[in-house]
Amino acid sequence: MRYIDIRSDTVTQPTQKMRDAMYTAVVGDDVNRDDPTMLELEELAAKLVGKEAAMFVPSGTMGNQVSIMTHTRRGDEVICGELSHIVIHEVGAPAVLSGVMVRTIKTADYLRPEQLLPAIRPDDIHMPHTGLVEMENPTAMGRVVPLDMMRQNYELAHQYGLPVHLDGARLFNAATALGCDVKEITQYCDSVMFCLSKGLCAPVGSIVAGSKEFIDRARKNRKMLGGGLRQAGFLAAAGIVALTEMTGRLQEDHDNARYMAEELAKIPGIHVDLSTVEISMVFFTVDKDADWIAALPARMLEKGIKASGIEDGQFRFVTNHDVTREDVDHVIACMKEFMAL
Ligand SMILES: *Cc1c(COP(=O)(O)O)cnc(C)c1O
Repeated sequence: MRYIDIRSDTVTQPTQKMRDAMYTAVVGDDVNRDDPTMLELEELAAKLVGKEAAMFVPSGTMGNQVSIMTHTRRGDEVICGELSHIVIHEVGAPAVLSGVMVRTIKTADYLRPEQLLPAIRPDDIHMPHTGLVEMENPTAMGRVVPLDMMRQNYELAHQYGLPVHLDGARLFNAATALGCDVKEITQYCDSVMFCLSKGLCAPVGSIVAGSKEFIDRARKNRKMLGGGLRQAGFLAAAGIVALTEMTGRLQEDHDNARYMAEELAKIPGIHVDLSTVEISMVFFTVDKDADWIAALPARMLEKGIKASGIEDGQFRFVTNHDVTREDVDHVIACMKEFMAL
């Protein structure tokens, strides 16, 4: 049975082109830099984001963590928003792997320069050293950060000699929403991580990009973390298709999300802040009791829809390559039915 899966964009299936490319990929030992398909992907990725070099990592989490490890020293503080993926969804890795502290900033949406400035530590013998500024675009909550905001944060960080890492898991969604080239976003960071495996439909993998010197050191750290991969060209082959064929179609997911948000907002008892729907994610709350809320995922599943339960008081529905406009109509019809219960 085919399910309509709106839990995330990570659930997307690799396309037939990806499967064909993986099947026929020429591979080698990538730890020895001997895998031509991986070398091709990394060169392509670096070029797309306007950086000197790039490196494949098995997950976005490893990409962020290897970047933090490469930028910082033990005891450093990493300044970031309190809702950042590295704070909430990476299992405490900054503390465990890099021995750094996260200095979280309370944000309504994203980090702003007037919040960043007072968080930078002065040179004081008692205080930790600020080692890194971390931004997201889009944020883990699906908000898109305006280019000028990124520029201000970046310039401020550099004024204090601080490197900037961008968690751009859905970087191409941000570029689509901003109507700009990804390079216009990544010009405001020293390193960037973005996922091949989310809306771009690759089965596995993310990219870290930065200066050649940074990536050389990051590659050593990746090896230490167990991320040195051998015939990884099979994964790179799908990644190349992701970057050449899948980045241009994300507007469709955004349009479907906007449509879903507008239709959900029309249902009595559902509350959607339409101004927060900028990419493929729709967050909403419902005027229902805990039992109704707890029962929703199972009810949706009976209708052929895989949807996540509530997190932090909100539901999140996500459109993706495998979700059509008709699928969205079915989701809306089911939500109407269940809201009447
Ligand atoms: C998905 C995501 C990541 C990386 O997640 P993995 O599941 O480890 O690939 C990092 N940051 C953000 C904002 C994300 O949404």
